[in-house]
Amino acid sequence: MLQIKQIYKEYKTGNLVQKALDGVSLNLRDNEFVAILGPSGSGKTTLLNIIGGLDRYDSGDLIINGISTKKYKDRDWDSYRNHTIGFVFQSYNLIPHQTVLSNVELALTISGVSKAERKKRAQKALEQVGLGQQLHKKPNQMSGGQMQRVAIARALVNDPEILLADEPTGALDSETSVQVMELLKQVARDRLVVMVTHNPELAEAYATRIVNLKDGKIRSDSCPFEIEESSLGSPVHKSMGRTSMSFLTALSLSFQNLGTKKARTLLTSFAGSIGIIGIALILSLSNGVNAYIKSIEEDTLSEYPLQIQSTAMNLSSMMFDPGSARVEGDSGEIGVTRVLASMFSTVDSNDLEALKLYFDSGESGIENYAKAVEYTYDVDPQIYRLDGNHIRQVNPDGSFSALGIGSGSDSFMSSFMSTDVFYQMPENTDLFQEQYEIKAGRWPEKYNECVVALTSGGEASVIFSYILWD
Ligand code: ADP
Ligand code: MG
Repeated sequence: MLQIKQIYKEYKTGNLVQKALDGVSLNLRDNEFVAILGPSGSGKTTLLNIIGGLDRYDSGDLIINGISTKKYKDRDWDSYRNHTIGFVFQSYNLIPHQTVLSNVELALTISGVSKAERKKRAQKALEQVGLGQQLHKKPNQMSGGQMQRVAIARALVNDPEILLADEPTGALDSETSVQVMELLKQVARDRLVVMVTHNPELAEAYATRIVNLKDGKIRSDSCPFEIEESSLGSPVHKSMGRTSMSFLTALSLSFQNLGTKKARTLLTSFAGSIGIIGIALILSLSNGVNAYIKSIEEDTLSEYPLQIQSTAMNLSSMMFDPGSARVEGDSGEIGVTRVLASMFSTVDSNDLEALKLYFDSGESGIENYAKAVEYTYDVDPQIYRLDGNHIRQVNPDGSFSALGIGSGSDSFMSSFMSTDVFYQMPENTDLFQEQYEIKAGRWPEKYNECVVALTSGGEASVIFSYILWD
C-alpha cells in the first residue's frame, strides 16, 4: 500500500516559482489500475516521478507499506526504484543499437543475474507482451506500439510491485493504443499500475480508478481508498533494508569495471592498507628479491598509480588506527566505533594548483622517484559513432540513465557503477607497452586515437559491449 500524504512540490527557475503539486493526498491499493488525468502542466508527471522516487517532494510524506520515506537517503531511493518500481515512458527509452532481447536483458545485467538466466527471463517477459518471435529485431525495425511493448517487458522483467507509465500511448495511434492498454490492464491483475494519460476515453475503458488533477490539486477520484488512520499507527522510519543490489553484485560490477576511476581509487587504498605493501615488505627481508619487487611495483603501478586528487579520504589511517574513533560506553556497556564518522572526517581537499607548480619548478626532485607524473582534468571526452546513417553518442554514455544509474546520477552506489569506459592515456606509455601485447594496430600516437584494452583472456567488459557494440 502506498500513501501519498500532503505532498507539496515547487520548481524554482531563476526567480520564477512554479507550484507543481499543491497538497496532494492519495492512497493507492496494492492491486489496481489507476489513471491520472489532467490538462498539460497540471502536475501529473511530477506526481508520477515522486511516486517512483525519480524526483523528491518538498514536504509531506510518501509512505510505502507503512514506512515513511521522509528520511530516505539516495541509496534507499535507489533500492526502492530497483526493487519495487518499473517505469514506462512515452518515448520508450530503448537503446537503439541493441536488439529487443538485449534491451530487456539490460535491466537484469544491473541486478547481477547470470547470462543464461537473464536471457531466459527476458525471453519470458517478451513472450508475455506478445513479442516472443521478434527477439532479435532492433527498435527501429518495429512499430511504435511494439516498441512500447518492449519497454513494458523491460519494466516487468524484474517483477516490480508497482508499474508507473507516463503517457504510454501518447505517441501511438488509437489502434495500437488499445493494444498497449489491454496489456497494461493484464499487467494490473497482480500489481499496482499507475498511468498518466491525456485520453479520458482510454482511462474510462481500461482503468479501475480515475484521479483528476488540475493545478497541482486532486479535483476528483472515482474510487477513493480511505484508510482508518488509527488502525495503522504512525509510519515508521527505516531504510529499505535491501541495498539496490546485493553488495557482491555491486562489487563484481566494480571489478569488471576496474578501469573506473573511483573504484580504482578505493581499491588502491585497500590494496595499500591490507595487502600489497605488506607482501612487498616481507619479500624485501630476503636477499636477492629486489629486482622482483621492482617489477611487481611496476606492474601494479599502471593498475594502481599513486593518485593525488582534489578531495581525498584517508581510508588507511582509519584501518590502522580505529581507536581514535572509539566512543566508550559507561562501564558494563558496549562501546561503539564510529567508523563512518571518522571516515568522513578524514575527507580533505588538496591544493592541486600549488602542487603542480611545485612539481614543475623542479625543486621537488619527484622525477627521481616516479616513473611518470600525469595530470588529468575532469573533462569527459565527447565520442560519437556513425551507425549506418545516424550518429550516436558513445561517451559520456547515456545507455543506463533510463534505469536511473550510470553517468550523471550522483548517488554513492552509482559511483561504483560508473558506465564510463574511456580513460585518458598517460603521456608516457612505456609502462603500458611492457604489460600489454598488441593484438591489432599500434599504440596511439595522437590525441584523437584510442586503444581498446582487453583482459588477459581476451575479453571486454559487459558494460563496454553494451555501450560500444551492436
Ligand atoms: P504534466 O505532466 O501534468 O503536464 P508536470 O508535472 O510536468 O505536468 O508539470 C507541472 C508544473 O511544474 C508545470 O507548470 C511545469 O512547467 C512545472 N515543471 C515541471 N518540471 C519542471 C522542472 N524540472 N523545472 C521547472 N518547472 C517544472
Ligand atoms: Mg507530463
